[in-house]
Amino acid sequence: MDFQFSEIHEMIRETARKFAKERVAPGTIERDEREEFPKAIVKELAELGFMGMMVPEEWGGAGLDALSYALAVEEISKVDASVGVIMSVNNSLVCFGLNKEGSQLQKERFLRDLASGRKLGAFALSEPEAGSDASNQRTTAVRDGDSYILNGVKNWITNGSTADIVLVMAATDKAKGAKGISTFILEKGTPGFTVGKKERKLGIRSSDTVSLSLTDCRIPAANRVGEEGGGFKFAMKTLEGGRIGIAAQALGIAQACLDASTRYAKERKAFDHPIAELQAIQFKIADMATSVEAARMLVYRAAFLKDSGSPFGPEAAMAKLFASKIAVQAALEAIQIHGGYGYVREYLVERYLRDAKITEIYEGTSEIQKIVIARSLLK
Ligand SMILES: Cc1cc2nc3c(=O)[nH]c(=O)nc-3n(C[C@H](O)[C@H](O)[C@H](O)COP(=O)(O)OP(=O)(O)OC[C@H]3O[C@@H](n4cnc5c(N)ncnc54)[C@H](O)[C@@H]3O)c2cc1C
Repeated sequence: MDFQFSEIHEMIRETARKFAKERVAPGTIERDEREEFPKAIVKELAELGFMGMMVPEEWGGAGLDALSYALAVEEISKVDASVGVIMSVNNSLVCFGLNKEGSQLQKERFLRDLASGRKLGAFALSEPEAGSDASNQRTTAVRDGDSYILNGVKNWITNGSTADIVLVMAATDKAKGAKGISTFILEKGTPGFTVGKKERKLGIRSSDTVSLSLTDCRIPAANRVGEEGGGFKFAMKTLEGGRIGIAAQALGIAQACLDASTRYAKERKAFDHPIAELQAIQFKIADMATSVEAARMLVYRAAFLKDSGSPFGPEAAMAKLFASKIAVQAALEAIQIHGGYGYVREYLVERYLRDAKITEIYEGTSEIQKIVIARSLLK
């Protein structure tokens, strides 16, 4: 077993770390406060090749592996988890699936721009009545000659109002349930496609989360991704890989909590001594560091399995389940270590808690991850 990174992995981590420090860190507090989408940062991420990391170079991507991607999301999320999720959705929910299942024409027309970051993508599975129960799709796609006509509402769509291209899951045959769902490429500007309510969120506030409304949206049949009826499987497979990204996002937040806590414990004095000398504080930091390392192992292992072509679904679920849990715990402990200063916005740890919580919810709640893990053991 080799715990050594390759030169490329080291390089990706360093590049992401430097970029996060120099380009992402300035303005994180203000962007969170103003709920402002980091447009300029996303453009620079694209220039670094970080928006289509796992897509081959011939299709505009960086031709890297899932471990490189996880390292980049971790480093970026350590500084700003909103930027982490914007990047994660485009990479693993949009580009990865299109590269795997898209036709040559779709890759030519859409993937090249998405992977190079010239365009931004969103992934629209969730609906008001379909979250964990994702097969309960009310959005419909009805074939009409060389077109499909889409109708419905999508909820909670990350990158939804900024995206140029949205992968939409819709029922093509309601009677078939999960086997009657298909995936479509929907372009911004399609008549009948409108952006609805912008969500005002607890955390990841500078990422863009909106509802999307589709009213008689006519799209070419050539925009269907894969077979008719293959959309649910497509979504589930895509989310398996996506979970590595969210687990890496959670890991980045947890590491940020640890870094802030060790820094603060050495600076802050109580009773004439740095609080780092108190065993109560040391134990919190030791527990935090141990869980961060354990999460890191799970995240990197899931990425490694994916890269080696092995099944990785349960491992990705374990990584997400564990990393998201310890991120929330680490944020709570970081606030405790900061005392009153931890509770106010000038110190970053209160944002870490707000940002960490979503990692237990999106791309499958923790309860859903447990179902995935248990199913794999009990089948
Ligand atoms: C900020 C944000 C961004 C998001 N981005 C996207 C996006 O880009 N694209 C997209 O498609 N979706 C997105 N989502 C949606 C997200 O994936 C769903 O919110 C999530 O899957 C949960 O669905 P739900 O909200 O409908 O909750 P529900 O499914 O209604 O769940 C409610 C509660 O019941 C539990 N529960 C449900 N079913 C079971 C079960 N079988 N066993 C045990 N417990 C269960 C859940 O774990 C949860 O605790 C986003 C959500 C948020 C908040």
